[in-house]
Amino acid sequence: MIYLDNSATTRPSDGVVRAMTAALTDTWANPSSVHGAGGEAKRILDSARDTVMNALGVKRKSDGRIIFTSGGTEANNLAVFGVARAKNRPSKNGSRGIVMISDGEHPSVDNPASVLESEGFTVLRIPTKNGVLDLDFIKEHATSDVIFASIMLANNETGAVYDVRSASDIIKSASPSAVVHADCVQAFMKMKFSPASLKADAVTVSAHKICGPKGVGALFITEEIVRTKRLVPTVFGGGQEEMRRPGTENLPGIAGFAQAIREATAEFDMRCDTLNKLRAEADSALGKLSEIRINKPAEKYLPGVINVTLPKIKSETMLNALSGRGICVSAGSACSARQAHVSRALLAFGLTKDEADCSLRISMNHENTPADVAALAEALAAECARLQRIRR
Ligand code: PLP
Repeated sequence: MIYLDNSATTRPSDGVVRAMTAALTDTWANPSSVHGAGGEAKRILDSARDTVMNALGVKRKSDGRIIFTSGGTEANNLAVFGVARAKNRPSKNGSRGIVMISDGEHPSVDNPASVLESEGFTVLRIPTKNGVLDLDFIKEHATSDVIFASIMLANNETGAVYDVRSASDIIKSASPSAVVHADCVQAFMKMKFSPASLKADAVTVSAHKICGPKGVGALFITEEIVRTKRLVPTVFGGGQEEMRRPGTENLPGIAGFAQAIREATAEFDMRCDTLNKLRAEADSALGKLSEIRINKPAEKYLPGVINVTLPKIKSETMLNALSGRGICVSAGSACSARQAHVSRALLAFGLTKDEADCSLRISMNHENTPADVAALAEALAAECARLQRIRR
């Protein structure tokens, strides 16, 4: 199998599997239990919390908190609803406040924002044409009524990296109490950033995009958010995660997450270097296929994510053809892959509906090789020719 769907998920490393197995078989006690076995489990939990914090470049423990969740989706929901519900301000002009998100957000931000819209909040979607966040739009629309903004650092379908820092600057100068959240699920451990460098008050990360397990993620919030009580829980129960996300923590998953981070940290430069080289190979090999267009973001992008538009061949048709040759890619984000709807992120990028319907996402990680890229280019060329022949 040639796996080129690393934005959907990644293969857990051997070290991750070992760390998870140890947490399942040795330190399986409840980290909230006060006995010795619980204490041992708690040490793993605390150490993992420090690991996530360090990886986010948060220098002092007192600068913020890590809230473990069941993944990026839950962390994003907690950020959106947790901040909106904490802002109990009276209606103004019939609106409960303005929420700004980019128009390329993952559904785990976009859908909660739509729910807020139905509850009386005004949601403004910032254009991201050609993969560039429209800062002028923010300048024009950000007022003191903005309560929350959620802007992803890297887009999961195009790899475009958005200028979260400049957006935050503009939003906070119009509305100093606005909370800025960044969904960093795709960017985490692929590029250097910190909540401070993004000027973000909250940051979402997820384990399974970095060779960790599925079903584990975290929301970082700054100490300022804690102090000013600008995030309330959305799930209620016991006292875990300081009551911000009750429920017994998924310790094996969290141990695996921490191990994945340790490995990604140790190999950060090597992985970046590998991905840059693979991207150069892919741009060159796919660039030779005249009928295929690479939808390259106009400014910064993650080298591992490549979106291409095919010559009037439906994404699903090509995806199945490549799958038959043992090559795994995807038609868009994995979570919407089985639903028949056009990718919002690609429309936002500037593709027409027909083009978006005929686009593929190829996502590489450090385990891919130049041979994988060559096999993909060869298969795409052969399948384009075959499928076009059949159509005629
Ligand atoms: N945000 C982005 C940008 C993503 O790409 C994903 C997953 O694809 C998520 C959030 C959701 O993360 P999870 O799969 O951990 O729920």
